[in-house]
Amino acid sequence: MRIVLLGPPGAGKGTQAKAMARELKLAHISTGDLLRQNVAQATNLGLEAKDYMNKGLLVPDSLVTRMLEERFAQPDVKNGFILDGYPRTINQARTLDSILAARAMKIDVVFDLDSSEPVIIQRLSGRLVCRKCGALFHKTNMPAKTPGVCDQCQGELYQRDDDKEETIKKRLAVYRKEVAALLEYYRSAKILTTISADEDAQAVLKKIIETAKKFR
Ligand code: AMP
Repeated sequence: MRIVLLGPPGAGKGTQAKAMARELKLAHISTGDLLRQNVAQATNLGLEAKDYMNKGLLVPDSLVTRMLEERFAQPDVKNGFILDGYPRTINQARTLDSILAARAMKIDVVFDLDSSEPVIIQRLSGRLVCRKCGALFHKTNMPAKTPGVCDQCQGELYQRDDDKEETIKKRLAVYRKEVAALLEYYRSAKILTTISADEDAQAVLKKIIETAKKFR
């Protein structure tokens, strides 16, 4: 099964994608995670992407497409995947279709995680990420057992540079500018499902898994 997860920053795409990947045994492909890995390793791609990310802007398509093509060349993708954070524009949706068509694949279902602004701000401003394994926590909604330490690998938890209030606002504005056309693209392909994502993570996951299984 091949799934795209859409939704504003803070809708819980990362949390849901990780849980879905476990439950449905699919590869989790997050362009944000891949970019952050490149930044952390100071690769050429990471050095080029860093400024855009810190400003809450989209990284140019040429960089993201190259990175995605490399990820799609890996063997685990053959058994199905969840795309988290890609596509973000109609242009990226078309690029994705052609990358997949070249591999005789297509997207089966697109989930749009719908979340309200106060919930988004609360989630993002309290979000913590493990520096080592990328696990997600929240200062109050999903606290680590020991503050500042990852439950899974004991790595250090940190706040993403782009989870500061000003950058959150910029990221939301970028999202809103692009999303209408993207939703229309998938609505007309009849593969779009909207899920309300304001409830707690477990309830949202249950709804997504039930719906996803119908597309298997
Ligand atoms: P995310 O982890 O999905 O919130 O992404 C963090 C940042 O990475 C975004 O604000 C963008 O700067 C960059 N990014 C992630 N995915 C994409 C994409 N599909 N296209 C362009 N930039 C992206």
